[in-house]
Amino acid sequence: LFAGETEFLKGVVAMSGLPPADRIEVCFAGRSNVGKSTLINALTGRKGLARASNTPGRTQEINFFTAGVDHYLVDLPGYGYANAPLAVVEKWQRLLKQYLSGRQSLRRAFVLIDARHGIKDVDEEIMKRLDTSAVTFQCVLTKSDKVKAGERDRILGQVRERLSKHPAAFPEIVLTSAEKGEGIPTLRAIIADLV
Ligand code: GDP
Repeated sequence: LFAGETEFLKGVVAMSGLPPADRIEVCFAGRSNVGKSTLINALTGRKGLARASNTPGRTQEINFFTAGVDHYLVDLPGYGYANAPLAVVEKWQRLLKQYLSGRQSLRRAFVLIDARHGIKDVDEEIMKRLDTSAVTFQCVLTKSDKVKAGERDRILGQVRERLSKHPAAFPEIVLTSAEKGEGIPTLRAIIADLV
């Protein structure tokens, strides 16, 4: 799946812009700055593919990438900007809700969680949305190189405990570091198995 080129297809700001749901896709969600762009770049082996620093002006965009011959990787807008205007947050929430509620071709959502911080309230909100929409989601811890083993285990315990309360959660947690390459082959294999 990741052997060929992954290409940027389009950025979508409204449901009318979504490409047809004619191929299986997986999406990536996470708080802004969680390391989502860096992870997508590491997965695809293309450094500049997903913008590595998002600006609040682009937060409402859902970015579609073509993967392999007939799959999509979908980069959802980062959430949790402390200073985002309410109108921006509301527009984002509306688009996200619409996308997650009716996307037949969406096979799994990867919810990225900073390995230093664990699950926050804004992450809980998106997980509840995924429960409601019956979209299976899997947690990916990012920046594992930034935590010591003891702290990592404490965060893993917290995440495991929280996930047990979400019907749509897939129990296996993937620990990654885009910096060190940890977990990247594992995540690639999980995605390749799904599509
Ligand atoms: P996004 O807003 O979720 O797309 O986050 P970015 O991909 O732009 O990453 C936010 C910051 O975290 C950047 O400064 C990255 O260099 C850094 N970062 C991302 N992944 C890692 C990682 O695995 N390890 C370390 N140490 N830093 C990372």
